[in-house]
Amino acid sequence: MTDPGQQNFPYTTNNAGIPVESDEHSLTVGPDGPILLQDHYLIEKMAQFNRERVPERVVHAKGGGAYGTFEVTGDVSQFTKADLFQPGKRCGMLARFSTVAGEQGSPDTWRDPRGFALKFYTEHGNYDLVGNNTPVFFVRDPQKFQDFIRSQKRHPATGLRSNDMQWDFWTLSPETAHMVTWLMGDRGVPKTWRHMNGYSSHTYLWVNGGGEKFWVKYHIKTDQGVEFYTQREADELAGLDADKHRRDLYESIAAGDAPTWTVHVQVMPFAEAADYRFNPFDLTKVWPHADYPLIEVGKMTLNRNPDDFFVHIEQAAFAPSNLVPGIGPSPDKMLLGRLFSYPDTHRYRIGPNFAQLPPNRPHVPVYSYAKDGPMRYEPNRVGAVYAPNSHGGPAADTDRFGEPAGWYAEGEMVREAYRLRPDDDDFGQAGTLVREVLDDAARERLVSNVSQHLLDGVTAPVLDRAFQYWRNVDQNIGDRIAETVGRG
Ligand code: NDP
Repeated sequence: MTDPGQQNFPYTTNNAGIPVESDEHSLTVGPDGPILLQDHYLIEKMAQFNRERVPERVVHAKGGGAYGTFEVTGDVSQFTKADLFQPGKRCGMLARFSTVAGEQGSPDTWRDPRGFALKFYTEHGNYDLVGNNTPVFFVRDPQKFQDFIRSQKRHPATGLRSNDMQWDFWTLSPETAHMVTWLMGDRGVPKTWRHMNGYSSHTYLWVNGGGEKFWVKYHIKTDQGVEFYTQREADELAGLDADKHRRDLYESIAAGDAPTWTVHVQVMPFAEAADYRFNPFDLTKVWPHADYPLIEVGKMTLNRNPDDFFVHIEQAAFAPSNLVPGIGPSPDKMLLGRLFSYPDTHRYRIGPNFAQLPPNRPHVPVYSYAKDGPMRYEPNRVGAVYAPNSHGGPAADTDRFGEPAGWYAEGEMVREAYRLRPDDDDFGQAGTLVREVLDDAARERLVSNVSQHLLDGVTAPVLDRAFQYWRNVDQNIGDRIAETVGRG
């Protein structure tokens, strides 16, 4: 924050820059008399105050963020022609971290996935990578997203969070098992945002200069090391410092301790997706590292705090549809749903000209035919208001930037799940996580976290389904959870 004390501002003005007559007193008829309608400065103050809020995000409402830089350290030019990933490139960026279900003001240390949203200001416009601190997600079809989120938020009658609703949805939606195992484990409460990884979770399409295509997943690994809070520590902090993570990021950067992350990708050759042993576009699955090892791309550093939280973070508008030449979407249905949903949210929440605001403005000229609308202040650069025109364009230049990055599809119009492949089950990767990644102490904390959560208001028949859900993940873990909950 700039320190106004150091700057000696000469006098107060109203929003039109006109010197005001008083910071303290309304205009009245005599000192005890009624207030006059002609006190336009008082009216401006009251009216502005009444409009200070924009609606909070329905999901990811509580967060914080910072500006920084991204620089390429590896060479992935054989996989993508995207300008920002070419060797030696460097660009500015903005990151916003958040919880998912909590409202503005909710504690940072509630157990929840964390949003990990990045905006890269590239030479070909803004590239947004709107990920989480988890490599997977709860559902694989956007048709279920709204239901899922409502089950995690507040009960319509009581206005309270309800573990019963959460487990009701999870146990009736077995595809959630991998993500719930992740969430209930140590990574479900990061120590700080600096101590967590980010993942695209989704698969994207990369296209190189020769038109060859590859499927990729991003892994953004913290250079500070992964650290977490136990449930007890998180619960205490929720009361002591609800803004723990927001404060930590701000204070670290202010003290000159700029956090960094190393950006990697997993790359799957385009043709391998067709007969990989499970659907590689299913958002509830990871690609095992043994099949697709991480390849280093670059380093991101967050080193500049915004000077106004509302302007730069509350109004930051990330959208997975911001894909630059060389990068496209994959057939991941959740991603395809988000391509619509995110910009739509911003249009509603901030307004149709949200892209002109400081955090969202590209660092390159905009030659768009968009015009007018509320709060527009950048004049339209293009001469004509329609395309095609005889006034010098602009016109789309596919010779320079290539055809849209896409894939071939045909079929009947259906409402069906992805076609099943041999290893497409809901519990397998969750079981691998429990048995092969977690150690004994981490498994013990998982059992304790789940059991405490179930003991807090979850009732039959949801409870019985929860025991079976965990036995499907791992028989032993399920038995231990049932036993712990049974003991109460
Ligand atoms: P690996 O042994 O190569 O990878 C296991 C990965 O698990 C680690 O690299 C680490 O990912 C992550 N991990 C470590 N501790 C935890 C924890 N407490 N909670 C969650 N994740 C943790 O095996 P595979 O690649 O075959 O994956 C096995 C399982 O590991 C998967 O089923 C999945 O649940 C989990 N996993 C896999 C990832 C992947 O992309 N392959 C990514 C993350 C988890 P990291 O280095 O990214 O922190």
